[in-house]
Amino acid sequence: MHANSDETHATVDIVLDYAQRRAVYENVPLDKPLTPRELSRLASGSITRDGIGARRATALFENVLAPACVTTDHPSYLSFIPSAPTKAAIAFDLVVSASSVYGGSWMEGSGAVFAENEVLHWLAAEFGLPAGAGGVFMQGGTIGNLSALVTARDAARRRHRESGVADPARWVVVCSAEAHSSIASAAAVMDVDAVGVPVGDDGRLHGDAVAAALDAHGDAVFAVVATGGTTNFGIVDDISSIAEVTRDRGVWLHIDGAYGLAAMLVPEMRAVFAGVEHADSLIVDPHKWLFAPFDACALIYREPDRARLAHTQHAEYLDTLTGSADWNPSDLGVQLTRRARGLPLWFSLATHGTEMYRAAIAHGIDLAREIADEIGRRPGLSLVRDPQLSVVVFRREGWSLADYAAWSDRLLDDQVGFVVPSSHRGEPVLRFAIVSPLTTMDTLTGILDTLS
Ligand SMILES: *Cc1c(COP(=O)(O)O)cnc(C)c1O
Repeated sequence: MHANSDETHATVDIVLDYAQRRAVYENVPLDKPLTPRELSRLASGSITRDGIGARRATALFENVLAPACVTTDHPSYLSFIPSAPTKAAIAFDLVVSASSVYGGSWMEGSGAVFAENEVLHWLAAEFGLPAGAGGVFMQGGTIGNLSALVTARDAARRRHRESGVADPARWVVVCSAEAHSSIASAAAVMDVDAVGVPVGDDGRLHGDAVAAALDAHGDAVFAVVATGGTTNFGIVDDISSIAEVTRDRGVWLHIDGAYGLAAMLVPEMRAVFAGVEHADSLIVDPHKWLFAPFDACALIYREPDRARLAHTQHAEYLDTLTGSADWNPSDLGVQLTRRARGLPLWFSLATHGTEMYRAAIAHGIDLAREIADEIGRRPGLSLVRDPQLSVVVFRREGWSLADYAAWSDRLLDDQVGFVVPSSHRGEPVLRFAIVSPLTTMDTLTGILDTLS
């Protein structure tokens, strides 16, 4: 099964050589998807009885498969939420693989888990959580939200049991009508109801609307989710008024900050997030605005013990782990085997220091404001709303969805940018999501020029 050692070395050299060139290559093209038919023609037949060898397989990836994947950290990639990993984080991701670290338990991965916890504790302190707070790096925000909500429901069940209250026929999680789709997805997995509360005219969820929902659903509510930066607009809910209500009623407060909570690292933005310090749980995705590679979500609990009660898996072969008082990351979310996926962020933070992160996030916020002003000045373009974080939503007057779609296809075909249409209250709109420190005003005005 294992190749002889010369062959092994050659394989590692070939792959690392490609990884190195790819990681430091300055002008990586945006690239674009191919159709299944095109890829069948160009790339099928790689799985053979005796193997095609590392050189051919690498060449196939480099020349055919990789160019059929959009470069999500390209400065002109402005759709969805882009990625923008630092070179340090990218490079260290290779080390995580090379080291075969098991990140699920302290017994097996203590060094890695310790380093990850350094990052989680730093984040927790930035968000104003108390010293006992802690968490785990999960695969992504969807799994992070699900894990937090499972913990919240477990805590509510235990409270009911202790006080002799019967569980409701249907559990309810209250969130904003603008909450991310992963909340509805978590609710479906958990077989609970997600109640979407209308937002105010400012697009934000407020405490009074949450209070009304709690009045309506009473004891059935096991958690309230506030969004720290909606994906479509970057809107931050009125967390402090929501936290006042959840604290009054003793309801779990979860903050979904997958994209936006990173902005709290910028001192001038802290006020926007007032109230986060009251969260029972929160998430922020390093693969979004914390410059780490796919995929990682930092899930942090105010009281990690509550998560252990909900998530620790018990099995005879695991007794030696679960019987100990060790810090086992697997006990805090929906997973057992775990890549130490927080290590690339740890290495990059350790290498560069925190100030570089604050500046890189501030760049996105500043750029969003600048391009919003520019959009306001250009005839035929108008802003849908003022940006709060680094997402700018705007329209090209008189265009239908088909116009936007045709323009977007052409923009990618010409390799000028990746900007897909979004929609707001049924109206098709355009959206710039800015994450990369390499995205500039020139990048953005160049794209606006193609709209006239
Ligand atoms: C992206 C996002 C998610 C989902 O995160 P994934 O890492 O894609 O699973 C959840 N909530 C918000 C607000 C997001 O922006």
